[in-house]
Amino acid sequence: MSTLEQSVQVATLQNYVAGGWRPATGTAEPLADRNPATGELLALVPLSGPEDVDAAVTAARAAQPAWRATSPLVRARAVFRLREVLDAHREELARILTTDMGKTLDDARGEVGRGIESVEAACGMPALLKGENLEGVGRGVDVELVRQPVGVVAAITPFNFPAMIPLWFLPYAIAAGNTFVLKPSEQDPLVPRRVVELIDAIEEIPPGVVNMVLGAHDAVNALLDHPEVGAISFVGSAATARHVASRAAVSGKRVQALGGAKNAMVVCPDADPALMTSGVTGSAFGAAGQRCLAGSVAVLVGTPAEQDRSRDLILEHARSLRSGDGADPATDVCPLISPQARERVQDAVAEAEGQGARVLLDGRGDGGEGGSLVGPTILDDVGPDSRAAREELFGPVLSLVRAPDLDAAVDWVNESRYGNASVIFTSSGASARQYRFAVQAGMIGVNVGVAAPVAWFPFAGWKDSFDGDLHANGRDAVEFYTRKKVVTSRWS
Ligand code: NAD
Repeated sequence: MSTLEQSVQVATLQNYVAGGWRPATGTAEPLADRNPATGELLALVPLSGPEDVDAAVTAARAAQPAWRATSPLVRARAVFRLREVLDAHREELARILTTDMGKTLDDARGEVGRGIESVEAACGMPALLKGENLEGVGRGVDVELVRQPVGVVAAITPFNFPAMIPLWFLPYAIAAGNTFVLKPSEQDPLVPRRVVELIDAIEEIPPGVVNMVLGAHDAVNALLDHPEVGAISFVGSAATARHVASRAAVSGKRVQALGGAKNAMVVCPDADPALMTSGVTGSAFGAAGQRCLAGSVAVLVGTPAEQDRSRDLILEHARSLRSGDGADPATDVCPLISPQARERVQDAVAEAEGQGARVLLDGRGDGGEGGSLVGPTILDDVGPDSRAAREELFGPVLSLVRAPDLDAAVDWVNESRYGNASVIFTSSGASARQYRFAVQAGMIGVNVGVAAPVAWFPFAGWKDSFDGDLHANGRDAVEFYTRKKVVTSRWS
């Protein structure tokens, strides 16, 4: 029993391997998982090491031949069963999510719903797996293409969507005949753990098909180096994405690594004021800015007077938002994941201020009971190439920059090293079209603040926001989790 465990009577969570729960073997002191709104200790998270990862991969390897030989129809039914079970536990999952990660209950419900949509998309796997053929390419010669699973695949996921992001990968991977190892974020693993508990009770998903290893860097690196893991799906910060993509490539793995972002929202003077203000503030401050699709910089377009009018509208709306515990229905802006995250965001705001930015709205007040709160913060006169304008702060901080016209706005946006998402607010179809055509980002919103594609479409960015080729979700997920085999036959 760890020192922390002895002093607080909270259990250390366990790994899920070969259909059973087992303690991690590593000797490192477990991490404390706390409710960001209250500071309450919820659980202790073990730091699994290479032996724990090897046990999970070995279990997945052992289960794979029988699972691969299972009819795709039967596998799809198992995933459909998962869909039913998750649907029946929506509210419970959303409440665990709010307690562990901090986002508001409404937001948490939305996240769980988005995760379930990925499961629904994966239920179509028998149709999506179908191959192709071409008859008579030579005399009596036919060619066919079949898709086969990669084998054992793993996903490494971030703290900000602990329900949805594991479900971007797990249902597609197993429906395609792979077996799966999940390494969720060490900061809030309670929703993934509950999902795995629910999977444990689903008879149609045999032991070893889904495994979960808790931990941090050592567990990730062991997965990246493990010779039996064929593909890695990763979501997290840009620096970790680059590390994961390069280390996985060294050991010959297929990899998709979705990284961080600095998403610009272009505000044209002709934008509908209500759509624009709710879109901009929802995007900047929802989930306390802890979304990869958060709009963290608004590019105000037009004459100085038009720019100021847009600024004032945004400011007025932001002032009306309430910060607090995500479990309180009156809360608009939830706490950050931890007091350490709050400190990082406060330092970034102070740095911007030191470089000449004006703090129009200052959320650096009381940290709240859990010490993690930062209220909506708006920075004006931000240097166009400062960290506040160009780098992800991952907090409820909106930076304002200005552009005389749409061309200048597009140029500024395209100078970013990131390319996850970008949004335009305008009532002009021509401006929206110009933006859609020219902007360098993987996901675009037109009068939609958080333009998260539904599960039937691919999800990922461009540039430093993504390493790999095939995006998450949709048809790309089928391609990522299968290998193509082309058979050329002659029978006469
Ligand atoms: P993170 O990179 O700190 O952690 C993500 C995962 O990587 C975790 O499981 C963690 O244990 C592991 N990890 C972290 N550092 C590591 C290291 N040095 N070596 C090995 N493993 C390591 O990210 P986070 O703080 O949990 O999540 C927030 C980030 O994720 C933000 O940058 C956000 O933009 C990004 N994100 C991107 C998308 C997207 O679709 N592009 C979606 C959600 C979140």
